[in-house]
Amino acid sequence: MKFGTKAIHAGVSPDPTTGAIMTPIYQTSTYVQESPGKHKGYEYSRTHNPTRTALQNALAALENGKHGICYASGLAATDAVLKLYRPGDEIIATNDIYGGSYRIMKRIFEPLGLVFHFVDMSEINHIKEVISEKTKMIWIETPTNPLLKIIDIEEITALCREKKIASVVDNTFASPYLQNPLDMGADIVMHSVTKYLGGHSDTVMGALITNDDTLAANLAFIQNASGAVPGPQDCFLVLRGIKTLHIRMQRHCENAMIVASWLEKHPKVNKVYYPGLPSNPGHALARRQMRGFGGMLSFELKGDVYEEAVRTMERLRVFSLGESLGGVESLCTHPASMTHASIPKEERIKVGLKDTLIRLSVGIEDAEDLIADLEQAIG
Ligand SMILES: *Cc1c(COP(=O)(O)O)cnc(C)c1O
Repeated sequence: MKFGTKAIHAGVSPDPTTGAIMTPIYQTSTYVQESPGKHKGYEYSRTHNPTRTALQNALAALENGKHGICYASGLAATDAVLKLYRPGDEIIATNDIYGGSYRIMKRIFEPLGLVFHFVDMSEINHIKEVISEKTKMIWIETPTNPLLKIIDIEEITALCREKKIASVVDNTFASPYLQNPLDMGADIVMHSVTKYLGGHSDTVMGALITNDDTLAANLAFIQNASGAVPGPQDCFLVLRGIKTLHIRMQRHCENAMIVASWLEKHPKVNKVYYPGLPSNPGHALARRQMRGFGGMLSFELKGDVYEEAVRTMERLRVFSLGESLGGVESLCTHPASMTHASIPKEERIKVGLKDTLIRLSVGIEDAEDLIADLEQAIG
């Protein structure tokens, strides 16, 4: 089945009692048993819920995976992955990483004994330099946030297989429409479902997808044992959201390309970070690895004046200033003070994240209106 058909049909079937075409919101905590232990596969909603099951199957299908496991947020999904490891185990992660992922690794799991190395993965030698016998997992995020660097998934997963190290890819920025890491050898795909999969800025959720039966069983065990599960209403909203994922992504990509090209030619703009621009260092790799370049981009104004960047963000009208991304509406973020504030300033500067960087999540409005808004804001 092709992607658009899967987005609409995978994982869902008419409700067995009524034939309802939309999966009902099973707003229930428990399920009545006929006799002790004799039930219809559902006992308690932390463990299983039919609305969640439909969503998990749909997400697995979109990533060409066998198992989908949903969590209360993207970070709860990350938390579940990190709980697979034990004190002394070493993990290598992308240095230009989502701020919350950095925070959970450094502030929650490092004190519990896991050891993290954050490296620039645009060059595989940086990974090889820190691999040891204790390395158990490599955490890849691509395109990176907020500098939109492209990391070669296949090259790293090949190294992981050779060294018997697990690989996890945070696929939030690309969405399964643009990139399927399991097909490139990854063991687990992670999503902040909050973003493109939900797509309407109305839900917080996370998901993990894998083909490995043992990993899936362990992750489902953590889902139930730790209990960070999404509610049925949120699962319904995401089931509805993903039916238009392919259409939304096409428009996100189209609009982002128009905005990036316009910004690149603007006399007041110093630099645009967007993998779709032929001038971008990750362009050729993105062309090979992705089916489009996505809706996210960042830029810096000339002169690097902090107040000017702030004024530009304040003047935007169609782009709303806010955290998050991937919704139908355009958003503008100041990574240094918002999404990446949990990363120390020295670390931010080291990875090239300036305090004047502006990040855009380009929505699916009319491109003309987005350009006009940026024009009046930049001046
Ligand atoms: C938002 C985000 C997360 C965290 O997801 P939540 O749903 O906010 O917990 C992780 N990775 C990336 C790339 C994100 O954008």
